[in-house]
Amino acid sequence: MFDKIVIANRGEIALRVLRACRELGVKVVAVHSEADRDLKHVRLADESVCIGPANSAESYLNIPAIISAAEVTDAQAIHPGYGFLSENADFAEKVEQSGFVFIGPKAETIRMMGDKISAKNAMLAAGIPCVPGNNDPLSDNDKKNLKLAQEIGYPVIIKAAGGGGGRGMRTVHTESALLNAISMTKAEAGAAFGNPTVYMEKFLEDPRHIEFQVMADMHGNAIHLGERDCSMQRRHQKVVEEAPAPGITEEQRKFIGERCAKACIDIGYRGAGTFEFLYEKGEFFFIEMNTRVQVEHPVTEMVTGFDIVKEQLRIAAGEKLSMTQDQVKIQGHAIECRLNAEDPRTFMPCPGTISQFHMPGGPGIRCETHIYNGYKVPPYYDSMIGKLIAHGETRESAIARMNTALNEIIIDGIKTNIPLQHDIMTDSAFADGGQNIHYLEKKLGIY
Ligand code: ADP
Repeated sequence: MFDKIVIANRGEIALRVLRACRELGVKVVAVHSEADRDLKHVRLADESVCIGPANSAESYLNIPAIISAAEVTDAQAIHPGYGFLSENADFAEKVEQSGFVFIGPKAETIRMMGDKISAKNAMLAAGIPCVPGNNDPLSDNDKKNLKLAQEIGYPVIIKAAGGGGGRGMRTVHTESALLNAISMTKAEAGAAFGNPTVYMEKFLEDPRHIEFQVMADMHGNAIHLGERDCSMQRRHQKVVEEAPAPGITEEQRKFIGERCAKACIDIGYRGAGTFEFLYEKGEFFFIEMNTRVQVEHPVTEMVTGFDIVKEQLRIAAGEKLSMTQDQVKIQGHAIECRLNAEDPRTFMPCPGTISQFHMPGGPGIRCETHIYNGYKVPPYYDSMIGKLIAHGETRESAIARMNTALNEIIIDGIKTNIPLQHDIMTDSAFADGGQNIHYLEKKLGIY
């Protein structure tokens, strides 16, 4: 195991990684911006290095500053968390070229999965079902593109190969709108992602978002830890996640999960990863792979008893997977509510000082947050300030426990989305389970 690592992130995920390090006896270097001196994990770390001003382009995205922090502290590895540089292949490459271990997949794997066309082709080769489409860059041949859309069948969606964060896509319902949509998406993709390549696929109208968690080591072993349902979304951002996905059978889990694990072996994957699918009318369609730990990893941890972050560290240190597929058992049900510093009606971010924080508790409740009494939520970063996770024997008991926890938690001084989470947890359609990705926006009246 490593002696010391750098955590190249902030907020709750940095704290989560620090806790895993403590359990494994690994020392922690926190790197932080000038605005983040008071972060909980910075205070708890063995060492800390300020890597730049509040603006993340100059701090959390500042590759040379992060690498020199690892150099001056004599650390051996860098954990990127999620967001920021976690899926940046150039960062992973520079980390390794500088003699440190990147706690994640190889740079070439990140690069391949970061291009949605090459990712789709790798998945098709591994036997993973994908959304029907061309799976090649669209050419400038209008006739060919019109024919292709006709073959796929309207509605279709034009997507940027290098897109991310729910941007760089356009839905097309009629033939007359196709060519314009292709040129607009190309232009936008070129400007936003520096890569104008676009491709076309079938637009699924009422899918659910279901994703599979995988773990792979450097010795040719890979397992899946079952799936999560992340269909409660607003503007393509997940609001609530749960595991397992309501209504998914053991056979479906085994069928897709085993294919995902096999795909990991085929592509030489290492570490934690997620295969994201759209699920419609009983069928799974791959959309993309996330090559990092995800915000919603705790729901999988709660139902499997498997520590995903500790395993990431072990794998990066060269150890073999600590569990075989046969040992993975799904027990009960877990739900996660993301807690954001935002107005629950307008969704405007609401930074400020937390005058009072009271953490909820009780059986099956887990609270992942870096906030504390007097902590000042800075305005510079994502508005997520924590996550509440409830585990129960059944989905019903997980919801009941979540409701109790949402009643108990106190976050004063700033506005949060707790009222919205209450609304969702007491919603009868949510209680039924299996709603599609548009449900929440329809409920909010903004769809
Ligand atoms: P990003 O990398 O930007 O998150 P994804 O490919 O994961 O992009 O897609 C993000 C979201 O866009 C999906 O969760 C879904 O809501 C929508 N989407 C993407 N592809 C399709 C499709 N073929 N049909 C319907 N919706 C889609």
